[in-house]
Amino acid sequence: MRVELTSEKLHGSFVAKVEEISGQDLLSCYQCGKCSAGCPMSFAMDILPNQIIRLAQLGMEVEIAESKAIWLCATCITCAARCPRGCDLSRVMEALRLLTLRKNVDAVEPSRIPEEALADLPQIALVSCFRKFTA
Ligand code: SF4
Ligand code: SF4
Repeated sequence: MRVELTSEKLHGSFVAKVEEISGQDLLSCYQCGKCSAGCPMSFAMDILPNQIIRLAQLGMEVEIAESKAIWLCATCITCAARCPRGCDLSRVMEALRLLTLRKNVDAVEPSRIPEEALADLPQIALVSCFRKFTA
């Protein structure tokens, strides 16, 4: 991934918003990687959890919004339990999802879900999906 750092991104409102919503100090992370090593969903993520928090530290809002990783996080809190710096990455992930949803971009279009899938999938899974992935 090519990362373009700018002073505006670094000191912009995105970093402050993530910290405010999550209640976490992003700069407390020193990139040890223990969160990613223990994350049960990291095998499917395009950006690892420790990389997500690094991008958040740097204000890389677009790169985070384009990543699948924040949507694959299962909020299992394993990362928070393992972090030597007491950073609850699951809260950071939730803040990143919220800020992405506030852009009013749908990650799932209900009208495009095949009828067979609608008939087969558990209703609770669909409701959860719509709450998490639609604006
Ligand atoms: S475990 Fe904590 S300090 Fe280590 S990379 Fe993850 S968030 Fe950062
Ligand atoms: S809360 Fe999310 S990022 Fe943290 S270990 Fe669980 S799935 Fe991975």
